[in-house]
Amino acid sequence: MPQQIGRCGLCHEYPRELRKSHLIAAGIHRLLLNPERTDPNPVIMHDGKAVTSSKQISKHFLCADCEQRISRKGEDYAIPLCPQLSGDYPLRNRLMLMKPVEEYPTGDRVCDLWSLLEDDIEKIIYFAASVFWRAAATKWPYQGKRTQFIVLGDHLEGFRLFLLGRSELPSDSAINVVADACEPPEPFIIYPDSFAGEGCSIYHFRIPGLLFVLYTGPNIPKTFREGALNTSGRKLILLKDLRKTPLFDGILDVMSKTKRVGKFKKKKPPSA
Ligand SMILES: [Zn+2]
Repeated sequence: MPQQIGRCGLCHEYPRELRKSHLIAAGIHRLLLNPERTDPNPVIMHDGKAVTSSKQISKHFLCADCEQRISRKGEDYAIPLCPQLSGDYPLRNRLMLMKPVEEYPTGDRVCDLWSLLEDDIEKIIYFAASVFWRAAATKWPYQGKRTQFIVLGDHLEGFRLFLLGRSELPSDSAINVVADACEPPEPFIIYPDSFAGEGCSIYHFRIPGLLFVLYTGPNIPKTFREGALNTSGRKLILLKDLRKTPLFDGILDVMSKTKRVGKFKKKKPPSA
């Protein structure tokens, strides 16, 4: 691969050799490959549309130091907590052993993530911030276009400085997390998207097992501000069966068309 020299999107150093950076870490895509489906490629949702795709979104964007920083401070910790191809889902297993802070008749449980992860909660915050920042910091090649997935506006620089370890996250931002309680969690990704709230902006993305929601602005609803991972309140996680939310209707429709197949039911045609 030819070398690409340019300015690193995160540290802004120049000149730097730029690595092929991913919007969503390659390690997360690996959690999604399912040879038991007629189409083994991951199901991806963005902008209300769900598709299966073998393509990972990547471009030359960050220097090697910044790539390593993002892996070491967030991804390397977060990815092993997600549902694995073996069927194990380490984070949910640990949450199910906890006494919830609150439990609802629907089966939804709110747990204290701080008491489970303690200082490691910083790595979950870092991971989520790194994905939201990447989605906003550049235009990524996606379906034949250059796409900036979300707009963080005035918060973009604050997120960049946080990822470099030079500041806290902007005080009017709140990262919330939901763990998928469905068994097994559906293997798909929702790329970062944004929504207008009342007096705040709302962003989300979903990787297998985990949905992250970011609120920014002056009027973040109290529940989400106080339960956020990055504020001084309680650092909570909601354990919820995400199949029961309208957000996933389009996803489940696409997944129903890529049914599981028995290993021997559909053999590959012999190669010529
Ligand atoms: Zn850099």
